[in-house]
Amino acid sequence: MSKRLVLIALFGCIPLAAWAFVPTARVLETFRAVVCVDDVICTDDIARYKEASELYEGALQYLASTITPLEKRPLVVFCATERCFQSFGGSESTARSIGRFCIVVSPRGWKPFVVRHEMIHRLQVQQMGIVRQALEPTWFIEGMAYSLSEDPRSELAQPHQQYRSQFEAWYEEVGRDHLWDAARMP
Ligand SMILES: [Zn+2]
Repeated sequence: MSKRLVLIALFGCIPLAAWAFVPTARVLETFRAVVCVDDVICTDDIARYKEASELYEGALQYLASTITPLEKRPLVVFCATERCFQSFGGSESTARSIGRFCIVVSPRGWKPFVVRHEMIHRLQVQQMGIVRQALEPTWFIEGMAYSLSEDPRSELAQPHQQYRSQFEAWYEEVGRDHLWDAARMP
C-alpha cells in the first residue's frame, strides 16, 4: 500500500481529534522511518540509541547546571543517515527544530554542543514565550544558542560569528543572573 493510501486509511478510520491524544513519538513512528525508544528519543538506527540517550541527557543536564532547567523534555529525532534527515526537510544544517514539535539531529550533528544548541532554543521559548522568542532579533536568538551551548568552533561562518560576538558583548553587560529578565525587556 502506498504511503498516501495509508494516510487516507488512517485518517479515514480514526477521528482527527483522537490524534491529539497520541504521543508525538508515536505519530513520528507512523509517518517516518524511525523508531521511538521512549516518548522523547527517536532514531533510525536503534543500535545507536545509547549514544543518542547520552547526548540527550547530557544536554539537559548542561542546561540545568549552567543556564536554566528545561521543564518539558523535548522530542528529539537522532538521524543516523542523511536520508532520514532529509525526510524531515533537513539540508546542509547539522540539526533543526520543527516548530515546537520536535528537534531533528543530522548524522553530522551527534555532538553535545549541537544538541545543546537546539535545546537552548526550546529554553528561549520556555523563558520568553513563543511570541517574544519569534520577535527577538536573530543575533540575540542565534547568538545565545551558539554562545551558551559552548560551541567549540573559534570562528563560525558569517553571520553566525557576528551574532555570537554581539550576544557575548550583551551578556557580559547583563550577567548570568539577569539573563532572562533582560531578555524579556521590550
Ligand atoms: Zn539555532
